[in-house]
Amino acid sequence: MASIRRVGFLGLGIMGTPMALNLAKKGFEVTVWNRSRARADALASQGLSVAATPAELASKVEAFCTCVADPAALREVALGATGLLHGASSGQVYVDFSTVSVPLIEELGAAFGAKGVDVADAPVTGSKSGAEKGTLVIMTGCSEATLARATPIFQALGEKVVHCGALGAGTQVKLAGNALIAAMLQAFSEGLLLTKKAGVDPRKFIEVVQASGFRSPYFDFKGQALLKRDFATHFSIDLMHKDLSLVLDNAASHRVPMPTASSLRSTYELARAAGKGAMDITAVITAFEALTGTVIE
Ligand code: NAP
Repeated sequence: MASIRRVGFLGLGIMGTPMALNLAKKGFEVTVWNRSRARADALASQGLSVAATPAELASKVEAFCTCVADPAALREVALGATGLLHGASSGQVYVDFSTVSVPLIEELGAAFGAKGVDVADAPVTGSKSGAEKGTLVIMTGCSEATLARATPIFQALGEKVVHCGALGAGTQVKLAGNALIAAMLQAFSEGLLLTKKAGVDPRKFIEVVQASGFRSPYFDFKGQALLKRDFATHFSIDLMHKDLSLVLDNAASHRVPMPTASSLRSTYELARAAGKGAMDITAVITAFEALTGTVIE
């Protein structure tokens, strides 16, 4: 089968915009679509084509990719009245990079598979800077044959691809991973707040953590942001709340208790109730700063 040259990209948010641009930089002929047209038009000036609807986009390309906010958004873009399915045809490849539920991925696999489209779920980690630099870690669920066809797309966007298993396996790993990230960040932020409130320089807490066996590059990145009060959004509180809800539904379906994720969802709900949903996940701790009258810096 001929290699893929014409690629569509739908969902031009924090992740999707740099991913679409990286595909174009790596030589693919890229057509984009976004619900808010302005974000797509902004890429037209950089040589990318813009489609009027997802269905129109699907009719023009050999492979199409989605990276939208949540399951409702993906359902609309893929299966809605002007969705991708209406323009899809046999022999195409569909890669979804969004973080959604395993049942939705399976539903897409059945709907697009019935039209002869090869489907892969391929959620990512690496956030905004990984998307910009093309260094994402991609965890995919698909057949070996689909993996081979999608690999040039993956190589344009990421530095590591982990083939997790059959369709849905990438999403399964992603949900477990995001529960871990939320727990790491919350415990780290609480440690900073506690040392500060107790009158010890929170930088000493970071120094010890990062000299220890439980150090992480994530703590360097997020520690600096917290100390500088830099809450520019890389990954929003609303989206992590969505992921914690997805992982808890997933865990319930497998009868696996996840008390840490359960508590974290309430913590993120608290931040959303304080009007912080669009802020970066580092800003969750500002709700606790307000309660304790202490600011980490
Ligand atoms: P974002 O900046 O909030 O962008 C969300 C995108 O989804 C936008 O293009 C938005 O369109 C679109 N969208 C929302 N609702 C829609 C609907 N009903 N119909 C059609 N399109 C809709 O989000 P992001 O940070 O790029 O994240 C995108 C996906 O990647 C999410 O599933 C997220 O969990 C996952 N992810 C994010 C990160 C990260 O660090 N940011 C890392 C890994 C994975 P508009 O422009 O019209 O609003």
